[in-house]
Amino acid sequence: MLSEQRRQYLETIGIDLWVRRDRGGPSMAPAATPSVVPAEAPAPARSVSPAAEPRGSTVVTSGEAATQWQQLLEEVRRCTLCPLHATRTQGVLGVGPRRADWLVIGEAPGAEEDRRGEPFVGAAGQLLDAMLRAIGLDRHTNVYIANVLKSRPPNNRDPRPEEVEACLPYLVRQIALLQPKIMLAVGRIAAQNLLGTDAPLGRLRGRVHHFGERQTPLVVTYHPAYLLRTPGDKRKAWEDLKFARSVYQQLTQGAADGNRS
Ligand code: SF4
Repeated sequence: MLSEQRRQYLETIGIDLWVRRDRGGPSMAPAATPSVVPAEAPAPARSVSPAAEPRGSTVVTSGEAATQWQQLLEEVRRCTLCPLHATRTQGVLGVGPRRADWLVIGEAPGAEEDRRGEPFVGAAGQLLDAMLRAIGLDRHTNVYIANVLKSRPPNNRDPRPEEVEACLPYLVRQIALLQPKIMLAVGRIAAQNLLGTDAPLGRLRGRVHHFGERQTPLVVTYHPAYLLRTPGDKRKAWEDLKFARSVYQQLTQGAADGNRS
């Protein structure tokens, strides 16, 4: 049965709930609610102790990693590689635990992010947090959040190709330090730039892509700011989140089986 807390998260996302009476659960929505709506929220994602996991072939001590993170942070703060440095308040590197299994990547800082120096704050950030919590994740515990661009484009316009080209190496270095198990690209801009394609978002959803040298699994879904404008697509986003969670579970289960054999 759904926990009351998860039910609240799903309702925050805007997912109507329907629980079959013959499973003993209370009816949560009008009878007209279509049956494609998930009857049960998934169990929380399994917690995997990062400390117990080998993290790729490159051995970086925690001291070296801390130094590299600091260098990255300072380079982004000082960066003038593209014209966006002239209009931003500050560079926004990212937020979250530096050994997180999950990496969420959006497009670029918005006005509030630019002001506060943290990605995904404000209404879109609150929706993202609720989406993550609905699959058992938390930005303070097991998710690192970053953007393709580290500086805000004026008036939130789409990033230009030359800006992405200048900025992407920062994200690549971030990913090399984080070594996430799975990446979730939120929104068309992030997905297209990470995957090097101009395919529409609808064609990129629902399958596992891979990113970078480590071929990190990458799943695509909608940007929470888009979902705030288009709440009718929240159900599709919920399917994407469940899909991503199942990919993650398969990965960690496969690793656990490999360690036992
Ligand atoms: S967007 Fe990236 S490349 Fe451009 S100024 Fe900001 S940090 Fe530098």
